[in-house]
Amino acid sequence: MKPVAVHWFRNDLRVHDQPALVAARRRGDAIVGIYGYDAEPYGAGRFGFCKTGPHRARFRAEALADLRANLGERGIPLVVRDTAAEALSAVLGGVAVARLSYPTEPASEETAIERDVLRMARARAVRCEAYAGHSLLHPEDLPFAIAGLPDLFTTFRKEVERHWRVREVAPEPGRQELVANLPDVGTLRPAPNGAVSNAGSARFTGGETAGLARLQEYLWERDRLRVYKETRNGMLQFDDSSKLSPWLAAGCLSPRRIYAEIRRYERERVENDSTYWLIFELLWRDFFRLTHLKQGDRLFLRDGLQRLPIEWSRDPAMVAAWCEGKTGYPIVDANMRELSATGYMSNRGRQIVASFFTKNLGLDWRIGAEWFEHQLLDYDVASNYGNWQYAAGVGNDGREFRLFNLRRQAEMYDPKGDYVRYWIPELRRAMGFGAHEPWRSGADYVPRIVDFDASARENRARYEAAVRRAGGPSGTGRDRSGAGGGGKPNRHSRRR
Ligand code: FAD
Repeated sequence: MKPVAVHWFRNDLRVHDQPALVAARRRGDAIVGIYGYDAEPYGAGRFGFCKTGPHRARFRAEALADLRANLGERGIPLVVRDTAAEALSAVLGGVAVARLSYPTEPASEETAIERDVLRMARARAVRCEAYAGHSLLHPEDLPFAIAGLPDLFTTFRKEVERHWRVREVAPEPGRQELVANLPDVGTLRPAPNGAVSNAGSARFTGGETAGLARLQEYLWERDRLRVYKETRNGMLQFDDSSKLSPWLAAGCLSPRRIYAEIRRYERERVENDSTYWLIFELLWRDFFRLTHLKQGDRLFLRDGLQRLPIEWSRDPAMVAAWCEGKTGYPIVDANMRELSATGYMSNRGRQIVASFFTKNLGLDWRIGAEWFEHQLLDYDVASNYGNWQYAAGVGNDGREFRLFNLRRQAEMYDPKGDYVRYWIPELRRAMGFGAHEPWRSGADYVPRIVDFDASARENRARYEAAVRRAGGPSGTGRDRSGAGGGGKPNRHSRRR
């Protein structure tokens, strides 16, 4: 019997846009999928939070069941074991394997798993082929080597827009004959007990079937892409932004498939600033991933890419109040409660709570990042730690103490108080904007954990002392034109 091609699924839990599967079918090879649960770390992180919380655990379990079903329709088996090495070993025990394909992962924990699997494959003369399937732009199509990746997003964006190339979406593999002598495919682990499914999180069902359905719903049925740029900062409505992130993070959706749909939408409905802006945000995602590839574990260092020795606090009472949504600042608390209840928080919310955590509570940004890692449905190592570094002021952008003024954020993004009333039952009776300032409106609510202005002054002084110790200001200043406000890209200069 002809040797088979094994595809190792990791954060690419989909059948669509998988060049490795297409290549195997073109060669006439039968495909066997493998998956190891070591792709989902459940141990405690550095600060004690379990790395994969119940929301993402539930989502992954659903995504894997969906993947097995979708592969099954094409006659492709998915062999699962506790580890990827065990899954590969089980397949090697029954059938001859010619090739092993797998998506690359930048994080060191994943690279260590990779070494074991590749060692085993090579010892059996299996040809190993890595695929880059997580990003919109293929690393080989970039106009610079990873080592030459610009430090600033705007420079990166301009460069890639000048040499714009997004690869075609790979066609889906057809049906294949059943593979003989396969080992037991293994039982999928059920979603863990306590996995929350309420009105918010229930809309995020794991798997490519649900991901593709959300893409169809957001663009074509709800027709919301045309106003994305105006609504993307909203915190209350599901359709304020695409909500594609959980499926992107697990690879249930390919960014190239999203891009192809945006381009079709532009041809068939409208091409405007909003359609451009969604692509622009996907570029942020690529930028963080490439930054991780370039910087390696520096992404996790306390002093960040800037090497700024800020004296962070680790006060456990403050950390707990923030995690539980009991800081006394409703706009922070509502966002933190939404995160715990659903595993999701809007981009606006994430920026607000991360600014408060680092600029008012003065807490070590890595604790906040680890709590997000535990909670988020869409946790993605590069986007999470990259965005946290930015929020803490230790990322690649220039040295500047950027503080989110909570009152102003509330006035701009929740002027009637609807969002905070939705997530904070104690404030349901507070009228209008008064829900944001219970200390003024007289609503009965937990007292503020710190004074906003005094805490900001104190942390600014700490920040400036660190800048002096590190040798003064550097960089070119604000660079969050997409994710955090600031300078606009020149939409007309783009080529795509
Ligand atoms: P949309 O606004 O519809 O954007 C479309 C897609 O673009 C998103 O799905 C996402 O893939 C990408 N994107 C948008 N904004 C960003 C951004 N700032 N950085 C990187 N990619 C972006 N995003 C994650 O996917 N995983 C994370 O772990 C994560 N952690 C974050 C931590 C902090 C402190 C902050 C400030 C942001 C973080 N983000 C993270 C980015 C962003 O908040 C989410 O991608 C976004 O809120 C997801 O909702 P959406 O799909 O509706 O986004």
